[in-house]
Amino acid sequence: MSTLHHFIAGRRDAGTSGRFGSVFNPATGEIQARVPLASASEVADAVAVAETAFPAWAATPPLARSRILFRFKTLLEQHADELISLIVAEHGKIAEDARGSLTRGIEVVEFACGIPHLLKGEFSENVSSGVDSWSLRQPLGVCVGITPFNFPAMVPLWMFPLAIACGNTFILKPSEKVPSCALRLGELFQEAGLPDGVLNILGGDAETVDALLANPGVKAVSFVGSTPVARHVYSWGSAHGKRVQALGGAKNHMIVMPDADMDQAVDALMGAAYGSAGERCMAVAVAVAVGGAADALRERLVPRVQNLRLGSGSDPLSEMGPLITAQHRDRVAGYVDSGLAEGAELLVDGRGMSLQGYEHGFFLGGCLFDHVRPGMRIYDEEIFGPVLCIVRTNDFKGAITLVNAHPCGNGAAIFTRDGDVARVFASAAAAGMVGINVAIPVPMAFHSFGGWKQSRFGDLAIHGPEGIQFYTQLK
Ligand code: NAD
Repeated sequence: MSTLHHFIAGRRDAGTSGRFGSVFNPATGEIQARVPLASASEVADAVAVAETAFPAWAATPPLARSRILFRFKTLLEQHADELISLIVAEHGKIAEDARGSLTRGIEVVEFACGIPHLLKGEFSENVSSGVDSWSLRQPLGVCVGITPFNFPAMVPLWMFPLAIACGNTFILKPSEKVPSCALRLGELFQEAGLPDGVLNILGGDAETVDALLANPGVKAVSFVGSTPVARHVYSWGSAHGKRVQALGGAKNHMIVMPDADMDQAVDALMGAAYGSAGERCMAVAVAVAVGGAADALRERLVPRVQNLRLGSGSDPLSEMGPLITAQHRDRVAGYVDSGLAEGAELLVDGRGMSLQGYEHGFFLGGCLFDHVRPGMRIYDEEIFGPVLCIVRTNDFKGAITLVNAHPCGNGAAIFTRDGDVARVFASAAAAGMVGINVAIPVPMAFHSFGGWKQSRFGDLAIHGPEGIQFYTQLK
C-alpha cells in the first residue's frame, strides 16, 4: 500500500494532520493507497501559497499563459495511457470509458488555450463627446475546485485549466476516493512550465472542504458532486462571501416515443444507463416509454442487460466495471430491494454477482425495472448505479410532465422521428442539457455545462463562455 501526498508550491507534501483516507482498487476490493486529509491549518497554508503566487501569475500575459496550456495539452496526450491506468485502478471504470472522459477533459484545455481571445473586452468610442468607455475582465484571486469520484480527470479539467488561464491561482480538492490522477495532472502542468504555487492540490474530505469554504483568501469555489453537498457548499461558501457554482446530482430521463427507431434507442440506453456502471451525472436512469414503446423496449433491453460483460476495467473484454466502494454497491443493491418492495417489476437482477478472480470486488450486475412510478424511491432518488427504470405513460404530455416535475434537471433526452415533438421537447424540457436522439447531451468544452433545479446551485455553468465569466470579474 502506497502513501500519497498533497501537491503544494510545486512540491509533494506528506501532510501533517495525521488523518488519512483509504483508496480502494474497486475490482479487487483491496486498499491500494492512503491519502492524507488536510486539516484547517494545512488549508490555510495552501491558500497562503496560492495568494502569494497570484500577483505574478495575474500579471503574466494571457499569451504566455496560453503557451503553457498548449504544452500541458501535449503532455496530457503523451501521458494519456498512464492517466487512464490511474483512473481505472482507483475508479474501476473500463479503460475505454476512462479514455473518453480524459479526451473531454483535454478539450477544455484546448478551449483554454484560446484565452487571449476569450479575455478580450468591449470598447465604445464617444459614449459622450470626447469620452470613450470600455470593459474588461480580470481574475479573481485564489479559486478552489472540489470534485467527485466519478470523473477523476475530466471534472478537475473542467475547472483549473480555465481558472488558471484567466489569471487565477487554484487549489484543487479531488475526491479522496480517486486522488492519484489529479496529483499527476498537477505534476504535468508544472512540467509544462506552470509556476510553482499557481496550482495546488490538497487531499481532503468534508473537514478540508469546510475549511476552504470559510477561508477569507478564497474568492471562488467550483463544486461538482451530490445534491446535498452541492447545496451545503453553495450556501456555506456564499455565506462566506464567495462566488460559488455547485453542480449536484441527477435523475436523467429519456423519453422514447412510439415512432422512435427502437434499435437506436436501445443502443443508446445501454450506453447511457450502464456505461461506467451508471456512475455518471449524465447517465440515463429513467426510460419514459410512451404508449407501445414500453413493450418494444422491454423485449430488446432484457437480453442486452442480461448479457452485459462485467469485469475489471483493465480487461479489454469488460463492458462494465465495479462500483466505487462496497458501501456504495450495497446502497445500490438496497435500492433494488426497495423497488421490489414498492411493487416495481424487476426484469433483470444484477445483485449477488461474484466474479472468478475478483470475489472481493465491488461488482453489481445490470438491473432493469419496469412499471416504475413516481413515489417509489427508485424513481424519486438518484441511485448512481447500473439500474434503469422503465416508466410507462400514454402520451407525450404525460412524459414531459414527468421530466419537468422531477426535482433534478441535469439532462433530458427524447428519441423520436417527429420533428415537431422534438422541437416542443427541446423548448419545454426543464433540464439544463437536452438531447434529441442523443441520450447523453454533454456540451463540448466551448459551450457551458450545467443542469437546472437541484442539479445546479449558482448562476453560472461550468467551462465554455460561462466558465470565463465565473473565473473573472468585470471592470
Ligand atoms: P460527494 O458529494 O459525496 O463528494 C463530492 C466532493 O465533496 C468530494 O470531493 C468530497 O470529498 C466532498 N464532500 C463529501 N461530503 C462532503 C461534506 N459533507 N461537506 C463538504 N464536502 C464534502 O459526491 P461523489 O459521491 O464523489 O460523486 C457522485 C455525485 O456527484 C453524484 O451525485 C453525481 O450525480 C454527482 N455529479 C454531478 C455532476 C454534474 O455535473 N452535475 C458531475 C459528476 C458527478
